[in-house]
Amino acid sequence: MTLLSLAGVTVRFGDRKAPRTALDAVDLEIAEHEIVCVLGPSGSGKSTLLRVVAGLQEVDGGRVSLDGVDQAGVPVHRRGVGLMFQDHQLFPQRDVGGNVAFGLRMRGVSRDEQARRVEELLDLVGLPGARGRAVSLLSGGEQQRVALARALAPRPRLLMLDEPLGQLDRSLRERLVVELRALFGRLGTTVLAVTHDQGEAFALADRVVVMHEGRIAQTGTPLEVWQRPASAFVARFLGFENVVPATVVGGVADTPWGRVPVPPGSPQGAVTLLVRPGGVRLSPAPARAPAPAPAPDPAAAGLRCAVESRTFRGSRVVVVLRPEAGPRLEAEFDLREAPWEGGEVGVTFVADEVVVLSSVR
Ligand code: ADP
Ligand code: MG
Repeated sequence: MTLLSLAGVTVRFGDRKAPRTALDAVDLEIAEHEIVCVLGPSGSGKSTLLRVVAGLQEVDGGRVSLDGVDQAGVPVHRRGVGLMFQDHQLFPQRDVGGNVAFGLRMRGVSRDEQARRVEELLDLVGLPGARGRAVSLLSGGEQQRVALARALAPRPRLLMLDEPLGQLDRSLRERLVVELRALFGRLGTTVLAVTHDQGEAFALADRVVVMHEGRIAQTGTPLEVWQRPASAFVARFLGFENVVPATVVGGVADTPWGRVPVPPGSPQGAVTLLVRPGGVRLSPAPARAPAPAPAPDPAAAGLRCAVESRTFRGSRVVVVLRPEAGPRLEAEFDLREAPWEGGEVGVTFVADEVVVLSSVR
């Protein structure tokens, strides 16, 4: 069942002479119980998208429907959506219970029912018994939980989160995001969240929507987007660095690093190519400097590279290589095989980890 549907939604800012398109004909559908995370750089239109769904922003074109009902002219408080912003703006003069009960009071829920719901929600967000505490004395993470309880209290059919964990430090964010996903799963809440942090999006979402300049650049499960970025923009935004122009003929691409194998069925001709860091392998016998050097051919002895740096990532090591030809290469190796800084290695490429990107944007 589709809960939310956007069709051709367009929003422009600025005067008629110099309009800025914040959303450019955006189509998006969200199913009931789905957790969708919109990911994109600052200014790509993420907040505008949420504001349109909430009814806080008028559209210049297109349609927003909830449960199949066109929301044109439906005011914010009648849409049944919950909103939580980055600066969650708790009411400082009210205690925790007063903050959580806010939406219930506005809806005329009885005092007994309010008290019962507040206890239930505080249990849910991991703050049992906190209703009498002053919000100004809570930690950042605790305030975030109170804001979440407040947004959940009226049981919105769609919960929207705008950079919900943006102000918290990394380790707390990583913990909260896992808790949130479990919580939404338990409640069956439909969630539309936006963030510029890919780690957050991938940990939270069933489906990720990547935005670029007001348009959807890609949508898919976190795994699909991670394994197969649709464009150079998405690849770079996800932090991949090995993105180069290439010419594909058959199963081989001609690249600045020499010949690189590509998966069967890859698009042919002039393309943009991504080599995922795991696709760079140490060749068994590193090539020594032949004189004079022929065009590098990784399929043979391997591309010679100086090892510029190595960084631990858990049990893997990210190594930046400076090849004899072409731009810097980011590689990833097991702890045991990772070469040391200052050394020299030969590398080859594996087709499985090479992606021919469909677009050069
Ligand atoms: P994001 O949340 O992805 O950072 P926004 O949706 O806030 O992006 O903004 C998208 C674009 O629209 C940006 O260029 C921004 O400057 C512009 N914009 C957003 N809100 C307004 C506004 N109220 N008036 C004018 N321009 C705006
Ligand atoms: Mg924003």
